[in-house]
Amino acid sequence: MTHVFSIPMRTRFRGITVREGVLVRGDAGWGEWSPFLEYDDVTSRPWLACAREAADVGWPAPLRDRVAVNVTVPATDPERAHAIVRAGGCTTAKVKVAERGQVLADDLARVEAVRDALGPGGLVRVDANGGWDVDEAVRAIAALERAAGGLEYVEQPVMDVEDLALVRRRVDVPVAADESIRRAEDPYRVRDLEAADVAVLKVQPLGGVRACLRIAEDIGLPVVVSSAVESSVGIAAGVALAAALPELHHACGLATVQLLTDDVVAEPLLPVDGMLPVGRPVVDEAALARLAAPPDRVAHWEARLAAVGQDQAS
Ligand SMILES: [Mg+2]
Repeated sequence: MTHVFSIPMRTRFRGITVREGVLVRGDAGWGEWSPFLEYDDVTSRPWLACAREAADVGWPAPLRDRVAVNVTVPATDPERAHAIVRAGGCTTAKVKVAERGQVLADDLARVEAVRDALGPGGLVRVDANGGWDVDEAVRAIAALERAAGGLEYVEQPVMDVEDLALVRRRVDVPVAADESIRRAEDPYRVRDLEAADVAVLKVQPLGGVRACLRIAEDIGLPVVVSSAVESSVGIAAGVALAAALPELHHACGLATVQLLTDDVVAEPLLPVDGMLPVGRPVVDEAALARLAAPPDRVAHWEARLAAVGQDQAS
C-alpha cells in the first residue's frame, strides 16, 4: 500500500516550498520514500531501500530511548533566526550559511543572532553545503567562529573531498562531512584523506538504518544523524539510527518537522527539551487525506516509484 503526500514548507529550503514523497506500508509499519525531485532513479534507489526496511523489516533494537537534537536555522534574517532558536528549546543550533545570493555579512548577522538566542552555554554549528572555495572557507570560518563565540563544527564548507581535507588542515574548527559521504561514489574517501572530524549520516540517501550502522563502524568518526527534511515517518528512521549507534556524542539534525506546516502523524516528532523520543509515530488517516497530493503529482510519484524498479505497491 502506498500514499503520496504533499506538505507545504514554512520557509523555502533547498529551493523547495512543498515537501512531497511516498509513504509505503508493510508488515513492520510505514516507511517514507522522498528523494528530492531532481534525483535520478539510481540516486533514488537507496532512499527506497530505507523505506522498505522501515515498512518490511523494522529497525535494530535501540540503545537509548531519547535522542538529543539541534534546531535547524535556514538562511533567513537574524530576527527570524533568533525566533526559531528560541522556539526550538534545543541547546544546539545548526545554521545554514553560504546561501547563494547572500554575502558573508548575512551569515555573520545570523550566527550572532543565534548565539544571542542560545546563550553562552549552547553550541552553534554551521552548514555551508559546499558553498565556498578553499580560501573563502578559511576566511569565512574564522569570521563565523568570532561572530558565534565558538563553533562546534563547520559542515561541508567546500564540495570536493580533496578540498575538504585542505580546509581541515587550515582551520581549528572541526570539519563535518555530509555531501562528501551521502553523494560520493566512495564515502570512505573522507576517512582515507582524513578530510573530516565528524560524519553526517542520513538514512534515506545511504540506504537505511542498517546500512548507516555499517558506514558508521567502517568510517571510524563520531556520527551526527541528520534528516532529509522528511515527515515524521521518515524522521523516525533517522531517530532509529541515532538510537542504535554504539556511541552518540553530538546532537542530531532530526528536528526538522517544524520546517513543515503539517505532518502525516497524530503526534509529530517535535523536540521536547531538545530531545526526540525513540519509536514509531502513529500515522493519522485524517492527516493522510488532508495532505494527499493532487492527482498529477500522485501520477508523477507512482511513475517514479515504478521506474526505480522495486514497486511492491498492492
Ligand atoms: Mg548538510
